[in-house]
Amino acid sequence: MDISFEFFPPSSEKAEIVLWDSIKLLEPLNPNFVSVTYGAGGTTRDRTHNCVKKIIDETKLEPAAHLTCVNSTKDEIKEITDRYKKIGVKHIVAVRGDMPNFDNFKPHPKGYKTSIDLVKNLSEQNFNVTVSAYPEKHPDALSFDEDIEFLKRKIDAGATQAITQFCFDFQIILAYRDLLQKHNINIPIIPGLMPTTNFKGIQKMSKQCSTSIPKWLEYKYNGLEDRLDERKKVSKEVAIDFCQKLISNDFRAIHFYTLNQSELTLSVCQSLNISDE
Ligand SMILES: Cc1cc2nc3c(=O)[nH]c(=O)nc-3n(C[C@H](O)[C@H](O)[C@H](O)COP(=O)(O)OP(=O)(O)OC[C@H]3O[C@@H](n4cnc5c(N)ncnc54)[C@H](O)[C@@H]3O)c2cc1C
Repeated sequence: MDISFEFFPPSSEKAEIVLWDSIKLLEPLNPNFVSVTYGAGGTTRDRTHNCVKKIIDETKLEPAAHLTCVNSTKDEIKEITDRYKKIGVKHIVAVRGDMPNFDNFKPHPKGYKTSIDLVKNLSEQNFNVTVSAYPEKHPDALSFDEDIEFLKRKIDAGATQAITQFCFDFQIILAYRDLLQKHNINIPIIPGLMPTTNFKGIQKMSKQCSTSIPKWLEYKYNGLEDRLDERKKVSKEVAIDFCQKLISNDFRAIHFYTLNQSELTLSVCQSLNISDE
């Protein structure tokens, strides 16, 4: 089973320590790659770069740097990719990003109009490009067919694999895989899993991203607001169950959205004896 981990760049000295503890904890699992997110519009530009550089300098991990094109000019993006080339980054997770307050997307007049154009530019520069995929449809898509057509265009532009938006319902992932096969989409689609004890946080994120929270999951966390140990147990059980279903249905890879809290992710991987070999 291929595994990969997502981290976000730290915004304080304390957060930096937490991040590096998390990276060090998960490094022995030998992930296929670790990705570092990028604040839409460049809000974490230097922090993402520094974090990716430190991964290259101080670990044996392969970093994938996220990059968004919202609110950026093509020149700004070029500066970023030129710096990545200099330090040896080969893999980019290319996404459009969201406008402030999730307003309707408007391309920058001197920027890329869509993620497709960004992907095309990056793959022309020989980066290995991973993109996003939405098992519950992206909220901007008018229909599922349109969403899948858009994914196809990102693949035609050079994307070699996609990571899905986080999802807690295995049936949705399974149905999505079938749908993609019907549309002749054959690149690896890596299910994204978010193991966390912060159920309130998940509910908030789900609203923002238009993803669903299954009722059974809500019941599991019911009444556990002040019981962290119980929440840890539930979160671990839920993540293990999801991974087991992926494994027994021949999925080849899992991407963990670690939220820089790696203990849960580590214990899930250890319980299932999954590491990237
Ligand atoms: C794996 C992953 C990693 C992410 N990393 C980051 C990150 O590091 N930083 C960050 O800020 N955000 C990140 N995001 C969030 C992402 O930026 C948002 O979900 C954003 O709303 C969409 O960007 P995208 O590239 O995923 O979408 P796109 O694939 O560009 O668009 C999503 C859908 O919207 C529709 N659409 C978009 N543009 C058009 C158009 N011009 N015409 C018709 N239909 C259109 C299509 O149906 C398309 O499939 C990530 C998301 C995922 C799943």
